[in-house]
Amino acid sequence: MWRGSINEIERKREIIRVDRGTPQVGALAFGIVDRGTNIIEVRPTTLCPLSCIYCSVNAGPRSTNRWAEFIDDPEALLMALEEVVRFKGTRDIEVHIDGMGEPGVYPYLVDLVRGIKTMDGVSMVSMQTRLYMFTVDELRELARAGLDRINLSIDTLNPGLAKKISGAPWYDIDHVKELVVKALELGINVIASPVWLPGINDDDIIEVIKWARELGLGRGELPPVLIQKYVPHKRGRKVRIRVMTWQEFWGRIKKLEGELGVRLTAMNNELNIHKAPKLPKPYNVGDYVKVRIISRGIIKGEFLGVILPLKDSAIHDRVITVIADPRMEKMLIGNNVKVRIIENDNNIYIGKLI
Ligand code: SF4
Repeated sequence: MWRGSINEIERKREIIRVDRGTPQVGALAFGIVDRGTNIIEVRPTTLCPLSCIYCSVNAGPRSTNRWAEFIDDPEALLMALEEVVRFKGTRDIEVHIDGMGEPGVYPYLVDLVRGIKTMDGVSMVSMQTRLYMFTVDELRELARAGLDRINLSIDTLNPGLAKKISGAPWYDIDHVKELVVKALELGINVIASPVWLPGINDDDIIEVIKWARELGLGRGELPPVLIQKYVPHKRGRKVRIRVMTWQEFWGRIKKLEGELGVRLTAMNNELNIHKAPKLPKPYNVGDYVKVRIISRGIIKGEFLGVILPLKDSAIHDRVITVIADPRMEKMLIGNNVKVRIIENDNNIYIGKLI
């Protein structure tokens, strides 16, 4: 079913299998993202079979700006993660598997979860997913591998609307609901994280909350539902709706909490999020660096490069997204170039060709 969508993506874009020697820090598309807390984001793939109407990262078969997709190497990812976990020096690391795609379609997901869970210092493995792609047996494998929590993307329980929002006529919300019940039975906690699209799924949000409460999502440790505000992103897909202000959004959440008698917010300490040492930034904005271009980047007009020289350490080695004319592809890939760094927020490097 969803495999068909992946085939469609393969016909349209280059699928890049990240090489084992490629640094795992520096890109948003794959690898590790550190925001200076005990939560480490792991991004195994950019592939996604759906084309949600509001997708902030413009993923899926209907993407309009991607020219490549990435599948990361599980060994490289685990080795780099081990170094980063050690660097953090805290024993309550949550590794959150997410990304610019659907982690559920990553071919090495079970091995990845198992490898993370057995890492010294990791206390929790969570994953953002829409869940539909698994069979019950696959879910059982994930539970055995050590998956602790699923953050479930689910915007409605209505089968027709679910197909519309996901941009996929085969998307089966009833199968998702069955898998949620199974996940809870298998000991995986689940919390629902619907995106509120005013005028599209207002009543559906209430239904999702009632359903989640009835099933016991969050298991009493966390709120069953954490609603997300729709925020249009520059390069994401946009929905023609009135966008709520943050004030209106939080006001409506508080009102729903009161009306339904359900907690829909959580503080950082309840989610066990706290500060933890941030990876060093080896390069500053404005620096000129030598870069070996290794492939396309995810968006047309972007290339992926490795900043030289390498030190063979996830703490120092970085990949960089280099902006350049797409027509230069043949000339750039495989060659060394000089790049000026224009962004390095959270160790995500963007540079311009000189
Ligand atoms: S919102 Fe998530 S599931 Fe939907 S298209 Fe984007 S990445 Fe895929």
